[in-house]
Amino acid sequence: MGGERPPARDADGRILLKGLSREALRAWVDARGGSPQAAARIWAGLYRHRLADLAELPGVDPELRRRLADEARVDALTLDEVREAADGTRKLVFRTDDGALIESVLIPGDRRATLCISSQIGCAMGCHFCLTAKLGLRGDLSTAEIVDQVVIARRLFGDARPISNVVFMGMGEPLHNPDAVIPATHTLCDPEGLDLSSRRVTVSTSGLVPAIERLGAESPARLAVSLNATTDAVRDWLMPVNRKYPLAALLGALRRFPLRARDRIVIEYVLLAGINDQADDIERLAGLLRGIACKVNLIAFNPHPGSELRRPSDAHVLEFQAELRRRGVATAIRRTRGDEAMAACGQLGRAPAADAPRRRRSLPIAATP
Ligand code: SAH
Ligand code: SF4
Repeated sequence: MGGERPPARDADGRILLKGLSREALRAWVDARGGSPQAAARIWAGLYRHRLADLAELPGVDPELRRRLADEARVDALTLDEVREAADGTRKLVFRTDDGALIESVLIPGDRRATLCISSQIGCAMGCHFCLTAKLGLRGDLSTAEIVDQVVIARRLFGDARPISNVVFMGMGEPLHNPDAVIPATHTLCDPEGLDLSSRRVTVSTSGLVPAIERLGAESPARLAVSLNATTDAVRDWLMPVNRKYPLAALLGALRRFPLRARDRIVIEYVLLAGINDQADDIERLAGLLRGIACKVNLIAFNPHPGSELRRPSDAHVLEFQAELRRRGVATAIRRTRGDEAMAACGQLGRAPAADAPRRRRSLPIAATP
């Protein structure tokens, strides 16, 4: 992996424990005279037991406990609100230290649940159909803030219906923030920690090609790509990132992406009536994906106020699926969940106050041609 960045600290200079890798935590504990066993207990306290406070942690000597209390922080986020939709989907709103609101969505299944998490505050990529795009990019989340969405959701809901799947499909473009996202995927999949299966942690991207390559080399996570169009002309218009990394470059990266046995890339395709849902789109899509181990998730567009785009009928979505399947493309329809609490995909992001803080970020966005 590339050189580790210095660990994130809060405004009081306290280290954010969930921003540390297991090795980095062990080094931090070692530097304060603690044993590797104490570091393992702290790690388990953070992730197995999801403690909000380490003061009671057994098996850690009092001096190390005092230094933990003085020098370290357990939770990086504060839960602000939980809203529940009629179908049981819950939107979790978190507050960051600097007052920004970010969101995760808990989608219960029969026995297990999926958590959809955010990687940035807003998004810079400017996709035409996406509500989050309207916020612009207001900042990157830190590793600790990304991991904490999962820890706090598990603390709240985990035991009844364990969260077994995590998807980076909330606010933000995760591969526009790879330095925080990639370490977070390691913590999520750590067998001594949150212990998610790497087949069940999915990073979804609009198509930032160099970062896709980095993800393949450096992260255990699965890859999902929001394709959403079958020609460069339509994709340029829907997703400005395509002007920098057009279809040929993106599909090349998918062909090269390292896959474990039986793993497949997820191709997300938001169906927009009259724009990307025509018969020739089906033909082209099957052609583009030939030879790529993938499955397609069709998502009917979720309309939002102010968007002129339209959602195709359910019958049309079914027909699109059937036609793709006839051409040998594994295809599923992703149901829209949690509409009522505005918790559906691409509907994350409430308008921030005019004076909402912006985080500093060193790199200009990559989405412009
Ligand atoms: N930035 C990443 C992940 C967040 S978006 C990405 O673009 O992949 C998660 C998914 O929601 C993407 O597949 C995106 O295409 C989809 N999406 C965005 N707005 C939508 C909308 N209004 N209706 C349906 N899906 C939408
Ligand atoms: Fe950002 Fe994804 Fe929305 Fe595009 S679809 S603006 S990349 S969050």
